[in-house]
Amino acid sequence: MAKRERPGITGDFRLTERIREAAGRGALGQAAILSGAGDLGEAALFLAAAMECEGEARPCGECGPCRKVFRNIHPDVVIVRDPEHKNVSVEVLRNTVADAYILPNEGRRKVYIFPDCALLEPKAQNVLLKVLEEGPPHGAFLFCAENSAVLLPTIRSRAVEWKLSNSATEPVADDRARELCAILRDGKAANVAAYCAGLESSKISRDELRALLSDARDMVTASLAASYGGDYEAEKGLAEALGRQGLSRAADILGSFIRQCGYNVGVGHITGALGVALMELRQFS
Ligand SMILES: [Zn+2]
Repeated sequence: MAKRERPGITGDFRLTERIREAAGRGALGQAAILSGAGDLGEAALFLAAAMECEGEARPCGECGPCRKVFRNIHPDVVIVRDPEHKNVSVEVLRNTVADAYILPNEGRRKVYIFPDCALLEPKAQNVLLKVLEEGPPHGAFLFCAENSAVLLPTIRSRAVEWKLSNSATEPVADDRARELCAILRDGKAANVAAYCAGLESSKISRDELRALLSDARDMVTASLAASYGGDYEAEKGLAEALGRQGLSRAADILGSFIRQCGYNVGVGHITGALGVALMELRQFS
């Protein structure tokens, strides 16, 4: 068999890795919104494959379920369309909901992809609320919307939003993540407070905050790995300042706030609590 490339979302390495990371933790959830600029349908299939994959580094692209998903022939991955109407009718959605309660044919999950949520009117979206709230654990609903504002707030609050970005790098998040690492290294409590307040007043979105914290955690874990002699590019002085224990504590704290960004919690609340949690690191006392 020819060696295959690991599957990914075209042009968005970061989102690819974030979805893999969430899949590895078993944290893909019941509902997701794929928004932003890019091939949302491709991203939805990638996410569906991550849910169905039986390999490692999900989605692996090589196992039976992955291949079926990527070839669009997996019986438990359904693209919800309504060819007879311009918008998706309430009836089609009722049938979708009823089907979601039936166990998967062969997969781990039953995944429903809504390829264009601009075609879901509010009354149609309302049909989905109950299944999103208390549906069977095997059910998964993936909403593709260039702008997630087309979805009702009640749907948005039940879903994790994965935003596609055309650029392979996000320099803004990267710079701010470096700044956060520098603050951890320097150990001045006033800087932590000012940094977190600055995030809030900059009107950072939850997605941007999640990206920033993921970058910062990557830097922290790279420093930790480097301290054990791994060949990783480490932030200068971070390992010396925090020590291994401090680095791993910092990675835990950042990880827990990355998860909070997936919930419907206000950014101000997250940044406030983040400041408090970081201040508990030993070098700030
Ligand atoms: Zn797989």
